[in-house]
Amino acid sequence: MASSPTTSSSSSSSLSSSYQYRTRSSYDLNNYRPSSYLSSSYSSSTYSPKSSYLASKFSDSCLDSKIPSEKLPVAGLSNLGNTCYMNSVLQALFATKPFRDYIMAHHENGQLYSALSRLFKEMSSSIRHGHVNPSQFRSTFIQLESKFNGCEQQDAQEFLSYVINDLHDELNKPKSRSRSNNTMIEPKSAQEAWSIYRSRYDDSKLVDIFVGQYASVIKCSYCGNESTCWDPFWDLPLPVPRNRNRIDIDECIAEFTAAEILDGNEQPFCSRCKQHRRSTKRLSIVRSPKILVIHLKKFSNNGYKLSSDINVNQQIRIDNGSTTMATYELYGCVCHHGYLSRSGHYTAYCQYDQQRWYHCDDQKVRDCTNSFSMATLKDSYVLFYRQQQLDHHYSSRL
Ligand SMILES: [Zn+2]
Repeated sequence: MASSPTTSSSSSSSLSSSYQYRTRSSYDLNNYRPSSYLSSSYSSSTYSPKSSYLASKFSDSCLDSKIPSEKLPVAGLSNLGNTCYMNSVLQALFATKPFRDYIMAHHENGQLYSALSRLFKEMSSSIRHGHVNPSQFRSTFIQLESKFNGCEQQDAQEFLSYVINDLHDELNKPKSRSRSNNTMIEPKSAQEAWSIYRSRYDDSKLVDIFVGQYASVIKCSYCGNESTCWDPFWDLPLPVPRNRNRIDIDECIAEFTAAEILDGNEQPFCSRCKQHRRSTKRLSIVRSPKILVIHLKKFSNNGYKLSSDINVNQQIRIDNGSTTMATYELYGCVCHHGYLSRSGHYTAYCQYDQQRWYHCDDQKVRDCTNSFSMATLKDSYVLFYRQQQLDHHYSSRL
C-alpha cells in the first residue's frame, strides 16, 4: 500500500519492537509536510484579477447585504488575492469549537497565536459588518512561512498543516525535553508510547485536540513473529482508490488500514528468523483524537485531481480493533472546486449549533441548511470530524 503513512516504513526495516523517537520535524515530514508536487516552488505570480474567477466575485457588490447577518455565526474573510485556500481553512478552524475557544481565550504568548486570536475575535464580532480583512494574520504567517507569500494559489491542506505546526511550535511545552538524553525506551504498550511522546516531544493544547495514535503491526509471514510500534498522527491522509467513479469514505479508511505486503527489497528483518522475511504490515488507530482531520489524497503527483467522487458520510466510526470504537460526526469541510492543485477555488462548509450548515466562500457566508446534503460536499478535500462518543467495549490489549 504505497499510500500508507511513511511513519511506519522506517520501522519496517526491523521486526524488533521499536518506538521511533523523532524530533518534531520528522513528524512533520510524515503527517504535515507536503508531498513532492506541493513542495516544488510555484513560479512567479500568475494572478491576474481581470481574468480570474475572483474578478467576477469581487464585482459582486451585493455580497452580504441580502444576508440576515444577525443569524450568521461568523463573518466572512476578504480575499487578498487567491487566498481562498487560507480563508476556507480559517473558517473550518473557527468552526472547531475546542480550538476556537482556546485561541480566543488568548491565554498564551506567541506571535502567530496572538494574530489568530485577534482575527478570530474580529470574525466573531464583525458579523454585522459582513466580512473582515485577514491581512494582519496573513502577514504574521508569511513571516514564518515565506513560501505562502505572493498571489499564487496554494494547497489548503498544506496551509492547514503549516498553521497548526507553527502554532504548536509556539505552544509546545513538553515536561522533560530530554533530547540530549537519548535513552531509548521501548514502550510495551500504546499508553506507554503515548506518555513518552507527550512528556518528551509534543505537549500542547493542540495535541489534546488533534493528535491521535496508531499502531503499526508487522508480522513475519514465515514464523508469525509480530512486532508493534506506535506513532502519533495529526491528521489522516486517506488514499483514494483510482479508476473508480464512486467511492465511499469508509472504503478509503479501509484502504488506509488494509494489510500491506512487504516483499522484495522491502522485506523487514525478523528478529526470530534472524533474516529478512516477507511480512505483512497493518495499521490500526489505537487512540482517537477529539477532532479527526481527514485529508483526502485527491491530487496525483503532477497536481491533477482524481476524478473519483467520494461519498462523504456525516458519521463515521473508527474501529480501534481490540480496545474501543469511536464515533465521529462531520462539522466542517474544506472543498476544492476545480481540476488542478494550482488553480481552482476553495470554499468551506461549516456546521454550527450541531444543526445549521453555512457555506463560507471568502467574504460571503450564507446559511445553506435547507439545501445542504452530503452530496453538497462532492468537492470535499479536508474533512473535520468531532468525536461524539468512545465506546470501551473491548478489554485493553495494546
Ligand atoms: Zn520470522
